[in-house]
Amino acid sequence: MKTFCQGCGQETKKYEINCAHCGVKLNVPNIPSYTKASIVAMILFFLPTGLVALISSLQVNNKIKEGNFEEAIKYSKRALLWCWISFGIAAILLISYALRFINQ
Ligand SMILES: [Zn+2]
Repeated sequence: MKTFCQGCGQETKKYEINCAHCGVKLNVPNIPSYTKASIVAMILFFLPTGLVALISSLQVNNKIKEGNFEEAIKYSKRALLWCWISFGIAAILLISYALRFINQ
């Protein structure tokens, strides 16, 4: 999702709290919540770690609403990390399953 600075209209970068162009504090910083990715990770990849990702991603929107952008960024990065961990576990499980299948 693209967000734009309310001061100068320039597109803002991910995790920016102050505009890099004009320095104004952004009303709506570009902090992805990764909710959809977390749900995919939970359903398709690995449920326990996907659930951790989803809980973190839901915290992102809460923290943005509270105006606590630093915390929102922390949860956003955590959600993404757990999505990747879920993907990694799924990949390892799939490879080990495939190897067992090949060795039969
Ligand atoms: Zn600006």
